[in-house]
Amino acid sequence: MEDCIFCKIAAKESPAYVVYEDEHTIAFFDITMSAPGHTMVIPKVHAPNFLELPDAEVAPLFAAVKKVVELVVRKLGADGATVGINQGRASGQYVDHLHVHIIPRWKGDGGSAVQSVVNNKPKESLEEIKKKIVG
Ligand code: AMP
Ligand code: ZN
Repeated sequence: MEDCIFCKIAAKESPAYVVYEDEHTIAFFDITMSAPGHTMVIPKVHAPNFLELPDAEVAPLFAAVKKVVELVVRKLGADGATVGINQGRASGQYVDHLHVHIIPRWKGDGGSAVQSVVNNKPKESLEEIKKKIVG
């Protein structure tokens, strides 16, 4: 994709702090790190979001995510990591090339768990919500 900044990074046409790369993926620092070592893993193929990632790219992407989590946690001495995808504008996705955020975490770093990004408690029962999904 011509105007996609992450495609340009994947093609080495734009600079980035690359920390991992393989045939299918590339991982580089988020320019506005939320924590030391905040890295994003992207597929080299242009996929605007997770649902548009070709099925054949899912396993290579998540294999790379696992490698990069292991890498940054071990090398930076983190206590853990938060791993997440912003899927769509409502979730905070602004770059329309799929990217998986890997944010190293330390005990007492002031952050919270990924399920605390929203507090939109359901008005329906769990049973009703399940019916909508599986019938
Ligand atoms: P999202 O809200 O999930 O779309 O996050 C996009 C992320 O990409 C943001 O955290 C930005 O800081 C980061 N970002 C945008 N442009 C660049 C770039 N050229 N190099 C590295 N990170 C970038
Ligand atoms: Zn792209």
